[in-house]
Amino acid sequence: MPPRAPRRLAAETTIAWDVDDVLNDLMRAWFDEAFRREHPETTATYDSLTHNPPHEVLGIGLGAYLESLDAFRAKRQMTLAPDEAVLNWFARRGDEYRHIAVTATPLRNAHRSAAWVLQHFGRWIRTVTILPSARDGEQLPIYDATKVDALCRLRDVAVLIDDTPKNMHGIERAGAVGILVPRPWNGLSGGIDAALAQLDARLDA
Ligand SMILES: [Mg+2]
Repeated sequence: MPPRAPRRLAAETTIAWDVDDVLNDLMRAWFDEAFRREHPETTATYDSLTHNPPHEVLGIGLGAYLESLDAFRAKRQMTLAPDEAVLNWFARRGDEYRHIAVTATPLRNAHRSAAWVLQHFGRWIRTVTILPSARDGEQLPIYDATKVDALCRLRDVAVLIDDTPKNMHGIERAGAVGILVPRPWNGLSGGIDAALAQLDARLDA
């Protein structure tokens, strides 16, 4: 059988994917496996995390939250399951477009995040852009203040899929499409399936 001809890109369109809470379910995993274990008395639920960072909702300090989250990332980032609905979307339509990952994560975790993305999504995602999250005692060069600033330097990024409303406003001001993944802290409901349906609708419009 002759080799299958590479499928033409529908357009030179690049879709930018946030990593944490989009390609994976980091906050839910941290909340269930770390926070609830460290605070067995808590009455909070994942759905009650109406802010991100959620430290005030959880009654802890920002420093304690970041310390717990960073320790969890060190232990579990590499073994987090990729979101199945997103993987199915890539299997169905991934080869129609180009893709990059863009993530704000502490530099000390960046190598894990990039390796995780390439391990699970490397068939389609060939570029990982990191914006180091600020951490006490760490002074790093700042090339881009926001994800949108970083994306504006890349050609043809047409869509950003992310769970942070602030990034939606920025990407839309930059003339691209923002798709907000419903999470408790952004007030949308429907989960990742709703975001993927919206993505299909925008791509097929
Ligand atoms: Mg995120």
